[in-house]
Amino acid sequence: MTITTISCKDLGALALEKFCPRCFWIKRRCENKLPFQIFPGIFNSIDGYTKKITNVHYEKKSSVPKWLLSFDDFIKPVKVPHFSKFFVMDSETNIQLRGSPDEIMQKNDGSYFIIDYKTAKYTDVQDELLPMYEVQLNAYAYVGNRCNFNPVSGIGLVYYEPQTDLTLDNLDARLLEDGFYMEFTGKLHKVVLDPDRIIPPLLKQVRKIVDSNTMPPVSESCKNCTLLDKLAQIITS
Ligand code: SF4
Repeated sequence: MTITTISCKDLGALALEKFCPRCFWIKRRCENKLPFQIFPGIFNSIDGYTKKITNVHYEKKSSVPKWLLSFDDFIKPVKVPHFSKFFVMDSETNIQLRGSPDEIMQKNDGSYFIIDYKTAKYTDVQDELLPMYEVQLNAYAYVGNRCNFNPVSGIGLVYYEPQTDLTLDNLDARLLEDGFYMEFTGKLHKVVLDPDRIIPPLLKQVRKIVDSNTMPPVSESCKNCTLLDKLAQIITS
């Protein structure tokens, strides 16, 4: 069995209602390098900034930002390892599961709490991506428990919601000499922690898909493969 590597985030995709095994199979064969995959860089900047807020806050005030304390009794953020040091090798499937959480907090009792930050409106459990995030966080917990962060006793999402209300009354407070401010409000969502039940079956599913010699069928919920066929016909005609 060849060694397969998967990120905690990519494993999360398997939990989506619209998960397409065919797409997963193709991406793995293309080493995740597909055309038409454009991701605006601004989201990377915002992601980086949200992590800095927590860490610079701790550096300056020796405390965790107060909105995060509604989650649990956090003592401090700890250094998050690079994914090359945050992984497990599953001997049954020969899959290396790895990742790099946005934040790891140490709690008062010495255990750890893993956080993933999202820049989005918090719509509670209506978020159709929530199943993916739940697996992603449980995968981090699965790795953390085996990788110097034992025990992981909690996981959760922090949604940083952009505050887009602009009125005559609050306009002045938003203005700078050369631009404007936009505020973000943190909303917390605790995720059920159950990594040993959730993760092993998904690793087996990954192994089954990547080992398949035939391409899985087209997903009924997506028309892109049909459009791609049409595009190929136009190009080659
Ligand atoms: S049907 Fe859609 S999701 Fe599935 S392989 Fe084709 S493009 Fe990807």
